[in-house]
Amino acid sequence: MFKANPNYLKLPGSYLFSTISKKVTAFKEANPNESVISLGIGDVTQPLSPSVLKALHDAVDEMGDSKTFKGYAPDLGYDFLRKAIADTEYKARGCKIAEDEIFVSDGAKSDSGNIQEIFDATCTIAVCDPVYPVYVDSNVMAGRTGTYDAALERWSDVIYMPCTAENDFVPAFPEKTPDIIYICSPNNPTGTAMKKKDLQAWVDYAAERHSVIIYDAAYEAYISEEDVPHSIYEMDGARECAIEIRSFSKNAGFTGVRLGYTVVPKDLKDSDGVALHGLWARRHGTKFNGAPYIQQRAGAAVYTAEGQKEIASLVSYYMENARTIKEGLTEAGYTMYGGVNAPYIWLAVPDGMKSWDFFDHMLNDAHIVGTPGSGFGPSGEGYFRLTAFGTHENTIEAVRRIKAL
Ligand SMILES: *Cc1c(COP(=O)(O)O)cnc(C)c1O
Repeated sequence: MFKANPNYLKLPGSYLFSTISKKVTAFKEANPNESVISLGIGDVTQPLSPSVLKALHDAVDEMGDSKTFKGYAPDLGYDFLRKAIADTEYKARGCKIAEDEIFVSDGAKSDSGNIQEIFDATCTIAVCDPVYPVYVDSNVMAGRTGTYDAALERWSDVIYMPCTAENDFVPAFPEKTPDIIYICSPNNPTGTAMKKKDLQAWVDYAAERHSVIIYDAAYEAYISEEDVPHSIYEMDGARECAIEIRSFSKNAGFTGVRLGYTVVPKDLKDSDGVALHGLWARRHGTKFNGAPYIQQRAGAAVYTAEGQKEIASLVSYYMENARTIKEGLTEAGYTMYGGVNAPYIWLAVPDGMKSWDFFDHMLNDAHIVGTPGSGFGPSGEGYFRLTAFGTHENTIEAVRRIKAL
């Protein structure tokens, strides 16, 4: 007699995006002649850059030639890519990360969901509120989160760290020490980023208490300010207490290509002295057969001089949208956060309105779709997420409509 995993049955439904799509569909059916613009999606819209495309084509051709054909990729990634990552992302920034501490994968969603497997079932987790849902849900699946209180939208065994305008979106240290701390910076959904001194304080906190930080830096390429760290390994002591997760998705437009990597330094050891590097290598070896050669060649193309220029212009395309939104809506009297080091703008909804009221107002009166902040956690109430991933034309038109309200 088989039984389903009871932890999966505890997961609350994906209320947020299904409610949004129902509301948008209903609006479109009732108003077939209106054009609806979405500033709601967390997905890129611009085509892959020329160097990446060339690398993809070349790699496909290699696969068709018996002399250059490749079978299984190495579990942990091809050396040519790991070296390019180590040199460009770490050595060039003064971070001591070696090639063999980089684990190439098919993306940051899988890595951020799977990384909890190498920790004991009794470990407690802390997350920011609002939060990228993968961190919590993957721990629910692992049975680590206790019981769910639907009214509070909180799991009994999860430590929530509110991030709001009051604390500048930087989480305060919790009363109870967590074993595993998830930090995403630049942040999805708030679009804000931690400064060096704040991240150093968190690294010091984790190092003193022997906690581990899982640092999701999927939006690293969007950083524009000097005092925002690109990697947690810029901080003293991070090799002993932090894992970093990166992705080519938002940085280089690879959401449909699939490529990412996770860094587990060899100095990261649990309270018994067990090095996590070996555990993550074992996990990759058992459950993952390597990211495809073709994708890894495309990833390496991102690190050529030409590739770096091209992805910088991709990022600046989206960041121009962020500026358009921020400047336009500031003129219209709204208060907004983020959008400087990340492609998300976190708008404070006008007094007395809830996130969902504002969603309805935007959809019905401006025909704009955004994401209610409350959908990312209780501390997101009173906020609304707009993304810079649209086209320039749509973004300008969306801002015009909101200003005209
Ligand atoms: C988009 C996103 C990811 C997922 O990246 P993939 O590499 O496409 O799986 C990870 N973390 C955050 C915070 C994201 O917004």
